[in-house]
Amino acid sequence: MTVPAGVAGWPIAHSLSPRLHGYWLQEYGIDGVYVPLPIAREDFSVAVDGLRRAGFAGLNVTVPHKEAAFAMAQTLDEDARITGAVNLLLFHRDGTIGGRNTDAMGLAASVAEEFGPDVTHGKTAVLLGAGGAARAAILALARLGAAKIRIVNRSHGKGETLARQLQPHVSCRLTAAGFEDWPVSASETALVVNATSAGMKGNPPLDLSLAALPATAAVYDLVYNPLETSLTKQARERGLRSVGGLGMLIQQAVPAFAAFYGVTPTVTPQLRACLQQALAA
Ligand code: NAP
Repeated sequence: MTVPAGVAGWPIAHSLSPRLHGYWLQEYGIDGVYVPLPIAREDFSVAVDGLRRAGFAGLNVTVPHKEAAFAMAQTLDEDARITGAVNLLLFHRDGTIGGRNTDAMGLAASVAEEFGPDVTHGKTAVLLGAGGAARAAILALARLGAAKIRIVNRSHGKGETLARQLQPHVSCRLTAAGFEDWPVSASETALVVNATSAGMKGNPPLDLSLAALPATAAVYDLVYNPLETSLTKQARERGLRSVGGLGMLIQQAVPAFAAFYGVTPTVTPQLRACLQQALAA
């Protein structure tokens, strides 16, 4: 029987997830479908219940539903509990709903793949942003062994709240600052992670100079549309290692596909090229 799964969000038309999961379904010859599900905020819980009853294996969940998915799940993995957000809902045979967050694992895997596992080990990382993705990024950077994570956010209070909330869950030191402090901290930064929504297609670029970063620093931008942001372009032009967030998107999908369809997929250059082509179109 065909196994259905999908991604729930609003808007969802431009999501790459159907293409990503569709690629693996075809590659592994699996009898499954993966569909985009445009679900408005107020319809989320009713829609999820209907999809569960209709036999869906589960759902990926994106903006604006990650907190609502957290509230619906009867069991949660550790990352979902700590971040308060769920990006993967699994419908179990006994009728219960499991919630997981695979963003932190996805980012850690992608950073390690792009820059090596020790890029921030024992060093200082700067995290730009203090929204939902920043929560997952703190867990990822802590797991990569960062000694200190400096959260730099436009609204200063939000960064401080985030540092306070997540500090008990990580062994590295979390501090918070505004963008005005950036030039001071830049010189001791090994890795910069952009988890703001600035630079995304349709949003203004991030107004940040990388001039004071050491030549050994690396820059990871969670934004993957466009493939090159003003931040990664600036880093490239300065000769710094830099990459956008497509690898994170792919890596966070690996455990979702495995949970839906029972096969752990391999990430190949061909898959990446297929997604890059879709983004460039
Ligand atoms: P969010 O909760 O809305 O948070 C947005 C953050 O961006 C806030 O900290 C906000 O600061 C900051 N911000 C927005 N515009 C800014 C600007 N012009 N200058 C400086 N800071 C600005 O969003 P999110 O869900 O965390 O997502 C953040 C980004 O990560 C998005 O681009 C999203 O696409 C990306 N993402 C990528 C992946 C992936 O797989 N690659 C996964 C998840 C998310 P204030 O607090 O001051 O408003």
